[in-house]
Amino acid sequence: MTAAGGAATGSAALQLRAVRSDPALPKSVDVIVIGAGIVGAVAAWHLAKRGLAVALCEKGVIAGEQSGRNWGWCRNTLRHPAEIPLMRQSMRDWRDGAVFGRLDTGFRTSGILYFTGRNAGDEAAYEAWLRSVDGFGLDSRMVTASEAARLVPGGAAPTQGGLFTASDGGAEPEKATAAIAEAARSLGATIHGGCAVRAVEMQAGKVSGVVTEHGRIGCGTVLLAAGVWSRLFAGNLGLDLPQLKVMGSVMRTHPLPAGPDVSVAGRRFGWRRRQDGGYIVSQADATIFDIVPDSFRLLRDFRPAFSTGLKTLRLRIGRQFIEEARLARRWRADEVTPFETVRIAEPEPAGRVLEQAASKVSEAYPVFAGMKIAGRWGGLIDVMPDALPVIGPVRAVPGLFLATGFSGHGFGIGPGAGRLAAEMIAGDRPCVDAGGFRLDRFARSAAGGRTAA
Ligand SMILES: Cc1cc2nc3c(=O)[nH]c(=O)nc-3n(C[C@H](O)[C@H](O)[C@H](O)COP(=O)(O)OP(=O)(O)OC[C@H]3O[C@@H](n4cnc5c(N)ncnc54)[C@H](O)[C@@H]3O)c2cc1C
Repeated sequence: MTAAGGAATGSAALQLRAVRSDPALPKSVDVIVIGAGIVGAVAAWHLAKRGLAVALCEKGVIAGEQSGRNWGWCRNTLRHPAEIPLMRQSMRDWRDGAVFGRLDTGFRTSGILYFTGRNAGDEAAYEAWLRSVDGFGLDSRMVTASEAARLVPGGAAPTQGGLFTASDGGAEPEKATAAIAEAARSLGATIHGGCAVRAVEMQAGKVSGVVTEHGRIGCGTVLLAAGVWSRLFAGNLGLDLPQLKVMGSVMRTHPLPAGPDVSVAGRRFGWRRRQDGGYIVSQADATIFDIVPDSFRLLRDFRPAFSTGLKTLRLRIGRQFIEEARLARRWRADEVTPFETVRIAEPEPAGRVLEQAASKVSEAYPVFAGMKIAGRWGGLIDVMPDALPVIGPVRAVPGLFLATGFSGHGFGIGPGAGRLAAEMIAGDRPCVDAGGFRLDRFARSAAGGRTAA
């Protein structure tokens, strides 16, 4: 589809690197990975590297959802301290030639600068964050207005200072996951696009296989890395995973010679320079929260997050409520599931968010006034109540592991997250302490309604 002005929208705007599917489903493997986003692809790579038989099943196309639609930032800046060790591992893996450094992921170090003056009180928040991560050895630091102007030249007016991390960078979402999935295949994994997993089979109280839309695959272990679909899938297994969705909007420009190299989050705009010389442009704090039936079911879990995050979330009620209310929440393995009826979640990008971003970035950095928009898209983001992922086993379902809920910053940390999940599955020593990512942090008393974890 083409929008006014000639820019493509939705999936047509994405230049996703295609990954072919293996012709036949294996009869049985050691591990089935559900979801070929970056986390599932990385996990498949590490599992295959250990000699385990792995099948990576994807209902749509590789990186068709979040992992192909994001800004491509890979950052330590402003991460929760619980994620920093895993993010540092991820940065090593993005760069390391023995892991993903030799693949065509587009990873490079550019530096990321968050300007002050984006939101009230952010200077104090940046300083508090710096104190909270003191001891991790990050190179993040506050910079003055004149240093910020040197780092990001071309501002229309005197700029403000900000929080800068020189070692942060980015990769190319439209090809990174594909490159990792192909590398997993070269280690022996099989890849199955257009192959929704409908259900997990259990025998003698533990996982014994999955049923896909194309048939059954036997296995002793399943990794659910299904992004925004994880709550729905887990629900059919009787698990109440507290996960909601928000929606981000992005545009891609044609190459813009002489534009800045450092990635920036400014007031009502943000960017990353792509490998092709174009830019990803959007707004950092402008996600849309569609009120849906789950918003009410999970109100208690998300109340604290809502009360602190409401300033930046844009609430909306409309079509999404009806669409989600109609989705089946329980099904049998011989029934068509929502994963087949919605092959790729591709929400309409929010025109107003993108128009605002275009006008603010052009005002602040006139080089962007000449940008030509090549494409726009929306992407649903899986969020947890504490904005931290769940990575690890599910005690209530022996053989099932989760790696989900990356809350809008899972692309950069994907290499570490998939590695950690694979290490847990293989019974190896985890690369970091995974205590903060346990599912049972959301367990409630029986009276509170959620016990299985
Ligand atoms: C607009 C936007 C901007 C973002 N910007 C950044 C950023 O700059 N930096 C950053 O670090 N993060 C960013 N993120 C977040 C990041 O993209 C995600 O956290 C990350 O990609 C999550 O990866 P994943 O593998 O967990 O999930 P996904 O990429 O969503 O992959 C899950 C896959 O599972 C598949 N699936 C689901 N159910 C089934 C089933 N039953 N059977 C088979 N397959 C199934 C889905 O089709 C999907 O492809 C952004 C996200 C968006 C949308």
